[in-house]
Amino acid sequence: MAVALLAEHDLSQLSETTARAVAALGAVGLPVDILVIGANVGVAGGQAAAIEGVRKVRVLDDVALEARGAEALAEILLSLKDEYSHFAAIAGAIGKDVLPRFAAKLDVSPVTDVIAVHGPNRFDRPIYAGNAIETVTCNETKIVLTIRPSAFSPARSDGSAPIEPLATPAASIADAAEFLVAHRTSSDTPDLSTARIVVAGGIALGSVHHFEMIENLASVLGAAVGATRAAVDASYAPNDWQIGQTGKAIAPDLYIAIGISGALQHLAGIQGARKIVAINTDPDAPLMQIADYRLVGDLFEVVPQLTAELEKRLNR
Ligand SMILES: Cc1cc2nc3c(=O)[nH]c(=O)nc-3n(C[C@H](O)[C@H](O)[C@H](O)COP(=O)(O)OP(=O)(O)OC[C@H]3O[C@@H](n4cnc5c(N)ncnc54)[C@H](O)[C@@H]3O)c2cc1C
Repeated sequence: MAVALLAEHDLSQLSETTARAVAALGAVGLPVDILVIGANVGVAGGQAAAIEGVRKVRVLDDVALEARGAEALAEILLSLKDEYSHFAAIAGAIGKDVLPRFAAKLDVSPVTDVIAVHGPNRFDRPIYAGNAIETVTCNETKIVLTIRPSAFSPARSDGSAPIEPLATPAASIADAAEFLVAHRTSSDTPDLSTARIVVAGGIALGSVHHFEMIENLASVLGAAVGATRAAVDASYAPNDWQIGQTGKAIAPDLYIAIGISGALQHLAGIQGARKIVAINTDPDAPLMQIADYRLVGDLFEVVPQLTAELEKRLNR
């Protein structure tokens, strides 16, 4: 059989996470098709076709799918159930919404947050907020997966897979939820889930205004900006910056954590980070214990100095 991967895109552009999922699914050992579903998704479809290792791209372009609600997407996947043995999506907002719903309709158990693929039915996934990794052998009739993109490098983009249209299924694709309006954030900073450098701040920043210190340092380094849940809950940072168990998982080469204690739920999101720098007044904070480089100090003094110094050196 074959694998159907639900592409992640913002209608206009394909997310790089899709190429990461293709790389992950290569180890399944079956042909991989990408499904690009939405309204005006021609460009995203073309970008999907350029990912190496893809057998074909199937594009369902329908204005009714601008919102791409979970019910509609699950219904579309269901219409393809006889064509594929595996269905996969990225473990992001859409994949986490659609795939469990789809799996329930098939009456199978999904394997979520896959971080390694060992063949057609063996996968690694984190459990207990990332404190243990379990290897799952899945013997379901259909294998339904969500892939954690930060765990994989992207597949190359010099492929040229054929693109074919996918018809809207005859069954209703209406969502019970009504789409009103989409507020999309546009940002020049790298995507948090796949960034090479991430600078994040915690509740210690104390205000939205002070959070600009984190953004300035990130800007000098060309880094993505992240935050703890405490900082997000306090409205110092937007929701999509949250790193951790209930936020995003990151795997940068360098993670700079500023005024962050390192609660278990935060650590669950940073396990893929290769080098960690922690800045904290408390040398015993859990994050200071696991950091590769520790700076004991007041962030309000240290961060502006560090930003100014890096700016000088990097712009020289
Ligand atoms: C079900 C559940 C899910 C959760 N999911 C997440 C999640 O996804 N992500 C997440 O982050 N959290 C999550 N949490 C919350 C988590 O438990 C912590 O409460 C949170 O991570 C703490 O954020 P913090 O480090 O900003 O704050 P704190 O734990 O209060 O730490 C603040 C740190 O700043 C230091 N500090 C204070 N002043 C300064 C200064 N001037 N200079 C330098 N350092 C200073 C302190 O020493 C301290 O270490 C979750 C909790 C639950 C119950």
